[in-house]
Amino acid sequence: MNFTWKTALLRLMAAGLAALAVGWVFGQPLLFLLLFSVAYACWSLYNLVRLERWLASGKRRNPPDVPGLWGNIFYRIHRLQIKNRKRKRHFAQLLREFRKSTAAMPDGTVILNEHNQIEWFNRAAANLLGLGLKKDSGQRIDNLIRHPEFVEYLDQEKFDRAIEIRSPVRENMRLAIQIVTYGRRDQRLMLIKDVTQLANLERTRRDFVANASHELRTPLTVISGYLEAMAEDQDLDELWHEPIKQMQAQSANMTHIISDLLELSRLESMQSAAPRAAVDFASLLQQVRSEVMASSGNQVEIQLKLNTSAKVLGSEKELHSVFSNLISNAVKFSEPGTRVQVEWSLDFDQGVLSVRDEGIGIPKESIPRLTERFYRVDAGRSKQRGGTGLGLAIVKHALSRHEADLSVDSELGQGSVFSCYFPADRIKKPAERAHLRAI
Ligand code: ADP
Repeated sequence: MNFTWKTALLRLMAAGLAALAVGWVFGQPLLFLLLFSVAYACWSLYNLVRLERWLASGKRRNPPDVPGLWGNIFYRIHRLQIKNRKRKRHFAQLLREFRKSTAAMPDGTVILNEHNQIEWFNRAAANLLGLGLKKDSGQRIDNLIRHPEFVEYLDQEKFDRAIEIRSPVRENMRLAIQIVTYGRRDQRLMLIKDVTQLANLERTRRDFVANASHELRTPLTVISGYLEAMAEDQDLDELWHEPIKQMQAQSANMTHIISDLLELSRLESMQSAAPRAAVDFASLLQQVRSEVMASSGNQVEIQLKLNTSAKVLGSEKELHSVFSNLISNAVKFSEPGTRVQVEWSLDFDQGVLSVRDEGIGIPKESIPRLTERFYRVDAGRSKQRGGTGLGLAIVKHALSRHEADLSVDSELGQGSVFSCYFPADRIKKPAERAHLRAI
């Protein structure tokens, strides 16, 4: 039965009135009302104690058979208990199935709490990382995987990308690890994939490119030498002048491609970050400017603006290659008489090197593909301007070895800006205040 306030109150009042009426008959209405109130309070207390005992017993017992409002309370609590038990069974079943499916997954899964302690892991994770259920549950993951790159990944919380490390249990196994955060407590799901085969394939590809380029270099040097000798031969039939010029241009182009391929393989094969020698951008940029201006015939003006004398901790050779590629591209894809501006400044603690041109610009859809090997927006035009399509791939790799990012902004027909962002810990600030210098 559904008890409302009204029925409960009406029943109580009716019982009270009955007690009054009986008391009236015996000439003691107030005494009978008092006795009724005490009896009612005792009855309520008795039922409260029964309810408490029934709940505390924790057993799946049917509720005691009690009439009235108390009976309803027992009945409703009992129904709630049955519903909760069903739900619990359902969730337990779901959890069992989820665990079974993740346990059967070929990829490793580890659940970490907000302190990076292991809460759960599947069989694949145990095999890939050498974890043991008893000895490693509750341990901090960075106590078990001590690879510096992993420790840094965990500390810096840059979980938008995966990292690749050597397996802590097998020397020749490579693992890709990605962490995903979830939940209110900032728990972490760590996904581990065996990428040994992929890494081996990638190494084979890299070695093949490096070896093939190396092998091609010697015959090409011989061909270039003979072509040069033939071009200088005064007795050579004039018929051969143009073909030899074209062959010389093609062999120069091939030499350029081969040296870019070798440079790219060298950068790709290096696992560690770039060295941290202090590189003075003022002199490096001036040197690159002179080289590019000399090779391009001084047709485009290159302006240098040094807003800071801060140095970058890195490899001078690699940074030379980065700026040489960016500045020669800016010149290559600009019309004579236009201007290229190179600016070095600090944005808070970060170093920003930008190369701005007033050239042909790049279509928006091509911007994300610029750093792919051999990608050119207009292959014909690039080749004609002496491009290999490898320059920006070299730039990307060299910058990533300095933990620096490249960003490109461009407007077709208006020009482009290529900006390199160097992290604060690669910047060596000058002792005194920097002053603006324009060259
Ligand atoms: P390439 O040797 O062909 O210059 P890169 O890898 O350096 O190769 O550049 C890839 C492509 O990006 C170029 O072919 C060109 O289409 C485009 N590109 C690069 N820099 C510029 C720029 N400053 N202005 C316009 N297009 C550019």
